[in-house]
Amino acid sequence: MPAKTNLMKHFFLLIGIACLASCYGPSANDKTRVAVLPDGRKVNIYHLQNSQGVSVEISELGATILSIRTPDRKNHFDDIMPGYDSIADYVNDRSYFCGVVGRYANRIADGKFTIDSATYNLEKNENGINHIHGGLNGFNKKIWKGEMVSVKDIHSVMLRYTSADGEEGYPGKLTIQVVYFLTDSNELNILYSAKTDKPTVVNLTNHSYFNLSGNCDSSILNHVLQINADSYLPVNKALIPLGEPSAVENTPFDFRSPKNIGKDLAATDSQFVYCNGGYDHNFILNRKDSKVAFACRLSDPANGRVLEIYTNQPGLQFYSGNFFNGSVKGKGGCLYKKYGALVFEAQKFPDSPNHPSYPSTVLKPGEEYSQHTVFKFSVQ
Ligand code: BGC
Repeated sequence: MPAKTNLMKHFFLLIGIACLASCYGPSANDKTRVAVLPDGRKVNIYHLQNSQGVSVEISELGATILSIRTPDRKNHFDDIMPGYDSIADYVNDRSYFCGVVGRYANRIADGKFTIDSATYNLEKNENGINHIHGGLNGFNKKIWKGEMVSVKDIHSVMLRYTSADGEEGYPGKLTIQVVYFLTDSNELNILYSAKTDKPTVVNLTNHSYFNLSGNCDSSILNHVLQINADSYLPVNKALIPLGEPSAVENTPFDFRSPKNIGKDLAATDSQFVYCNGGYDHNFILNRKDSKVAFACRLSDPANGRVLEIYTNQPGLQFYSGNFFNGSVKGKGGCLYKKYGALVFEAQKFPDSPNHPSYPSTVLKPGEEYSQHTVFKFSVQ
């Protein structure tokens, strides 16, 4: 049960066993290959595969998850992670497919925030209005330095990136480590840590798209979703949280019991108008403390695949793929249509730097940012 797993302990364990990995080498199914970007730069692509046959591919470009292959109830394996076939397509991607997004995941209104009375102006890369996902050249576009840390039943990659003081307008040099750690019980742990040399804001996540059917032509509206949240943050028409949370009770945002994602979408609600006919909202996760705990459960009744997410983050952005319109060409030539994929982002709240009542995203020198999220795969 991942909620009971002390992930930080695993993280240090992984660092500790790095030398063992060089002595004994990675487990048989974990492999590294090299891909060449259009401009000639080379990146490593890591293939992790556990004893159940579940596999994950991770690229040094953007610390991006390129694929996740899991079985359905007939033990047929499919890739449940929408994206592209070619690494080159991730260079020009504007949908933030499955990379680490930062320095600030999600939106900062007007691209502006203040720390200690100094105001910082960021690129307004969302329609000239908001700053989103760290900018057009955010962490999902950077080349990270990866290292396979893989021994026997530990299938893991550690990636490092240093973001310079002033990069994309953010203050402070930020050093970041992300560890992807696949267990033999089909849990993909993602552990993030970061340190800064000046006060800055940090909100990291993986912008993971999913379609549990493994088929991009199949709508995610038929998936069943449960979110462990009594409240969510309503947004204005620029998709910036209005302020105070609203209770989900008696609204289409009530996912406390499992329901079909499409069930309440016909409701008259200005929130759906702003979000182009779907969900694009931060849910406030119910939690007793700051430990890793249950966030959501997604299943595809047609094939039995289940994804559960556990996190130590206070929020979960659920985006139901409302802005896809068939113009993005992805894996197997697929044209992603509205609701062809959904995104879960475990994170702090959008636009927190401009909402003093939200959990703080400020990181100061001497502090360590840490974020743990677990994707657990099973069948029902
Ligand atoms: C946002 C969506 C956006 C998508 C791709 C999500 O995190 O909430 O509004 O379309 O990312 O940028």
